[in-house]
Amino acid sequence: MSVQLSVLVHTPAHSQLAGPLTYQSELPLAPGTLVRVPLGQRETLGVVWNTQLGADAPQPPPSNWEIKPITAVLGGLQPLSDAWKQLVGFSASYYQRSLGEVALSALPPQLKGLDATQLERRLRRKPLSAPSSEPSAATESDTWQPTTSPWAPPELTPAQAEVLQRMHCTHTQKGPFLLFGATGSGKTEVYLRAVQKVLEADPKAQALVMVPEINLTPQLEARFEQRFAQLLGADFKPDTLVSMHSGMTGPQRLKSWLAAHQGNARIVLGTRMAIFASMPHLQLIVVDEEHDPSYKQQEGARYSARDLAVFRARLENAPVILGSATPSLESWHHSRPAAEGGRYLRLEMPDRVGGQSSFPLVRRVDMNHQPKSAVFSPPLLQAIQDRVARGEQCMVLLNRRGYAPVLQCSDCDWKSACAHCSAYRVFHKTDRTLRCHHCGYTERVPRHCPACGNPDIRPLGRGTEQLEEHLSELLHAVARPDGSPVRVARIDADTTQKKGTLESQLASVHAGDVDVLVGTQMIAKGHDFRGITLVAALNPDGALFSSDFRAPERLFSLLLQAAGRAGRSPDLSAQSEMWVQTHHPQHPLYAALKAHNYPEFARQQLSEREQSTLPPFSYQALLRADARTQEVAQGFLNAARLAATQLPAAEHVSCFAAVPLTIQRVANVERAQMLLESTSRTALQHHLAQWHTLLHALKKDPAHKGVIRWAVDVDPLAI
Ligand code: ADP
Ligand code: ZN
Ligand code: ZN
Repeated sequence: MSVQLSVLVHTPAHSQLAGPLTYQSELPLAPGTLVRVPLGQRETLGVVWNTQLGADAPQPPPSNWEIKPITAVLGGLQPLSDAWKQLVGFSASYYQRSLGEVALSALPPQLKGLDATQLERRLRRKPLSAPSSEPSAATESDTWQPTTSPWAPPELTPAQAEVLQRMHCTHTQKGPFLLFGATGSGKTEVYLRAVQKVLEADPKAQALVMVPEINLTPQLEARFEQRFAQLLGADFKPDTLVSMHSGMTGPQRLKSWLAAHQGNARIVLGTRMAIFASMPHLQLIVVDEEHDPSYKQQEGARYSARDLAVFRARLENAPVILGSATPSLESWHHSRPAAEGGRYLRLEMPDRVGGQSSFPLVRRVDMNHQPKSAVFSPPLLQAIQDRVARGEQCMVLLNRRGYAPVLQCSDCDWKSACAHCSAYRVFHKTDRTLRCHHCGYTERVPRHCPACGNPDIRPLGRGTEQLEEHLSELLHAVARPDGSPVRVARIDADTTQKKGTLESQLASVHAGDVDVLVGTQMIAKGHDFRGITLVAALNPDGALFSSDFRAPERLFSLLLQAAGRAGRSPDLSAQSEMWVQTHHPQHPLYAALKAHNYPEFARQQLSEREQSTLPPFSYQALLRADARTQEVAQGFLNAARLAATQLPAAEHVSCFAAVPLTIQRVANVERAQMLLESTSRTALQHHLAQWHTLLHALKKDPAHKGVIRWAVDVDPLAI
């Protein structure tokens, strides 16, 4: 007697086979079991979803459909847990994607290629660098136990102690916790202790620690490794701490995933994808820099790993810690007092470790009173010169936007537009090319203006590359204390393309081999530069008047982070400064920055958002469509809008007119979007779920056959 099973396989997002498929099996299999199944001409990986007939039970197959047997069971692996399945189920429905797509993309790609025998072989393989478990090796492993050097973690600061005590106090709420801690206040130490506590209380417990960009934070990995190697001694095996991020190779990802799934990994450190890690004994989730936009996936299922962390923690009945010096306004709002409806517990660490709470002095340079063409205002330049002459380091932050070095003709109107996008190509001096940052289209710089033949074509505005050059010229007469010339260096996406270059460049800053560091926001995040005493933002105003309502939030966070780079060293912190060149020195955002007052900034922003009913006071979704022409793309969106008005929840959801994206055309594809907004998350969710079926039907309509793709983005970060 065989049984019928519903099995998830990777189906294309918009295929009609969106739900689980039905297969038969000789043996009953537990939900969550990994299997190999035939699909069309192929054989593929599947996840047994449900064995009961119920809500998401097997879709009745077409009557002429023969129910095929599964090919094999990946028997060496425990079934995926119920909580994991619920996480996948929630993500698929909330972000409007198919279950199969979400479930299968949550598994390591290499797992999909292994048949049962290969997997068994893989599971038998010992981790390469694992200490051998044979008795003869025991003495050897004894030698590296830290028995000789008595080691102690740092004594907690009173703020850290209080925060941890409130987290562990069984009488207060179990979270979610918003750890609102200044840069350098010792949040990482709090994470380490919280993880330690969980691991010590239960020998099986697992903790998930998420960071926005693991490549920028190898320090964090090192700190966790150092701490837990010490704490666990011989119990710290090579797979006790594993990473999960997109920079890893297929085999590495599979190895980490297996370690987590089998419970060997006690700590998983990863980027947003790690939220889907199979961790059967998950007992704590940490989301560091929770405000960071990188937590939002920008393609496929456009999930927010931060939001899913909160959801997953509740599922697993585990605490979650969201940490930031500049929380997202959503999280900040959720952490208002419980009496006002707050659901998160806000824990504060306002001061830097060591009592050096002195935040850099913020100086606003009124650019209305500076020479018109000056990139560096004379007072800023003077300040940089003084610092360099004293042997201190400076950091110059450039907002890439508005400074992209576009080429233009000095005679006619020609600019280096991209032939395929509604954007300008950027001048790259090193290889003398014009490169489109959207589609990649690259050409050598022309000798003459393509429009009028004028040989005088030159950059408009400045990029980091030219800024570095310009600054070197301005500073050429300045000498360092030992009489040697000033050294200016640049770190941005261009200089760090080769693997390892970022690390070596950062190392030279740390070593003091660089006097002035020029770069984009990449340099503002997380680095613990000790010698920097002056940070300057050259042109931050653009974000104040952006069409994107989140731009000020991102700017404030960036500036505060950047300011946090200055004065990290106690003996230098007293005279550290943050310079802001602005045409709007009186803007409240800068006033809040000067006062180092995130709560005040959040208050301003939240009251503006409340007045305009923007998130977190409303919920949004975008429908995006790509086509060869705007007409076709917008035609689809407007038809979708019309269809939406027929839906039951329509009166609770505002649906705005279709508009082109800011970068309207990329690689010859026209892009448009339409915004949906509701004050009720539930209403919006219902609406989207029903709308989805209509959209599938609409796309099939010959009138819209020119639509290349469409997608829904729930809780979009940029509109
Ligand atoms: P954050 O993550 O909040 O920016 P960190 O955790 O990186 O801050 O801490 C800043 C610095 O203070 C680090 O060099 C860290 O080693 C040190 N530190 C943290 N907690 C303590 C403590 N309790 N005692 C001494 N030094 C500490
Ligand atoms: Zn010209
Ligand atoms: Zn292009």
